[in-house]
Amino acid sequence: MNLSYDVFVNEPPPQDNGLLPNGDPKGGSPVASTLIYASRDAVLTDPGFTVDQAQALGDWVAGKGRNLTDIFITHGHGDHWFAAGLLAERFGARVVATAGTIAQMHVSVAARPFLWDKVYPGIPPSRVTAVTVPGNRLVLEGHEMVMVEVGHGDTEDNSVLHIPELGLVVAGDVIYNGAHVYLGEAVTVGGFGPWRDAIDKVEALRPRHIVAGHQNKQLDDDAGRTIAETRQYLDDADELLRTESTAVGFFTAKVERYPDLLARTVLWAGATALYGVREHPSEEVGQILVAGWL
Ligand SMILES: [Zn+2]
Repeated sequence: MNLSYDVFVNEPPPQDNGLLPNGDPKGGSPVASTLIYASRDAVLTDPGFTVDQAQALGDWVAGKGRNLTDIFITHGHGDHWFAAGLLAERFGARVVATAGTIAQMHVSVAARPFLWDKVYPGIPPSRVTAVTVPGNRLVLEGHEMVMVEVGHGDTEDNSVLHIPELGLVVAGDVIYNGAHVYLGEAVTVGGFGPWRDAIDKVEALRPRHIVAGHQNKQLDDDAGRTIAETRQYLDDADELLRTESTAVGFFTAKVERYPDLLARTVLWAGATALYGVREHPSEEVGQILVAGWL
């Protein structure tokens, strides 16, 4: 079979906006990009969000010696795609996504001035150029891959890329692997039920391998393990929401339970949102979500 994939994990950009409750400096989460390639052509996923990341990823892609036809975006969060334009230009590739993701990409662009650009330096211009494709299907030298809409994960309208021949699902932020999970947007859908449904949809594809959008690159991409660990993380979150009365208590308990996970800032942003909505039910939810990152 002349179809393969490889993963590049970009380091998070430097940031300088204070400390976490345990004294750690705030920082982002590594972002994973997958290159699926055949003998001549290739498709790339989730190309990251800063100029530096685009450069590092682009050099890695160039080293593969394939013709990049498409760049697929799993969901609207800017950290997965604000750099897509730079990669698309460098390689003459098209940016593709589901209609739901494209709508969410516009939401992320609108949030740049008061969220993304406040926290992260080095984000390039990020016009939404993504287009849909018929049937949400891509064909790479005769090999089919399908964008599967799975609904709410860590945000609205998540999709994953299923490559049946490889037993592979590129799962964006529906499945995590060795990094803290962003829990905040559960406040917009009344809890983690929709996310659990999305995980079930990924599992129903019967993947052997899952590339999580945020991951510790030392770990393997075993589908069974990453699915089970993401479910457990959500179950633990529900338990701690019952037993912990403050965001700091929740954060501290999660760090104790998961000392090795990367990106504690992501945990803190989510905890701040979950408890912010509980403590200030009359405040605007969008503002509470943004405040968690600042
Ligand atoms: Zn993400």
